[in-house]
Amino acid sequence: MGCTRSGLDRALTAYRLWESCAIPGFLYGTEAMVISKTTVKELEKIQHSVGSFILQLPQSSSQVMGWMEAGLQPIQQRLDTKSVLFAHSLTAGKKDPIIKAVVDATLADLTDPWTKRVQAILEEAGIDNLVNISKRMLKRRMREHHVSQLRQAKSDHSSLRWLTEPKEWFKLQVHINDSKQCAVLNQVRAGDAGLGNRRPNHLGLTYKECPWCSAIGIRVLLNELHVILDCPGSGHARRATGIDVFLKVRLPLMTEHAIMIEFLGGDGANVETMMLRGDWTLTVLEEWRLAIAQL
Ligand SMILES: [Zn+2]
Repeated sequence: MGCTRSGLDRALTAYRLWESCAIPGFLYGTEAMVISKTTVKELEKIQHSVGSFILQLPQSSSQVMGWMEAGLQPIQQRLDTKSVLFAHSLTAGKKDPIIKAVVDATLADLTDPWTKRVQAILEEAGIDNLVNISKRMLKRRMREHHVSQLRQAKSDHSSLRWLTEPKEWFKLQVHINDSKQCAVLNQVRAGDAGLGNRRPNHLGLTYKECPWCSAIGIRVLLNELHVILDCPGSGHARRATGIDVFLKVRLPLMTEHAIMIEFLGGDGANVETMMLRGDWTLTVLEEWRLAIAQL
């Protein structure tokens, strides 16, 4: 963090404030309630703004980026885990006989909205009951279920095809900071580098195919991989930076798709290396933008 300058890193600060102050406040006492879908949606919208701020991404970027790269677990998942753990704490251990009677009556009443919700969460997560399971195991099962939900959400977004899974789920990823190098890499990971293939670019134009290549009679789909690794329109910058060498030493061994994943951090490169790749990416995108502006 703070590799580019001294002082607080805004990404880390926002993450800490959100997780340590805002979330505990929002979710206080919710383990005993049924929260409506509308409220969850509203809270998720706010969380998405925080995630976009942390990652320096436009609001239009996928929510999955905030969940995976910024480590902000979806609100519904947080609520579900709280409710299930609360139900477990009520059923386990020694208790006052009166409290136990109330709990047993509530959990046996399948018309009770809270009981219904807890049962639905357990069913969805493939957990049979709360009686023969330890708290630790329950937490693990919920987490595994939630991770698989996010894997599914990621695979539903073709724009996230170069995004690597978090090294540690539900934590701010170590390569995230508030630098401009990190911003551009996040945009590329999100498939949202402002090329004009998803929404209008800096010239207010949108394209399906690369406009630079179209101008010389080559029809090729426009996306971040094309501009960073392939397009002749950004060729000079690619050779002037380390991208060309990065690409050439790997091409005999893997596909460009796999090279792109490695380049964006899938190879586990350290923060300094990622900053350098961020600089290279900025240079290549800049050259391509200038080139298409002159068409
Ligand atoms: Zn091109």
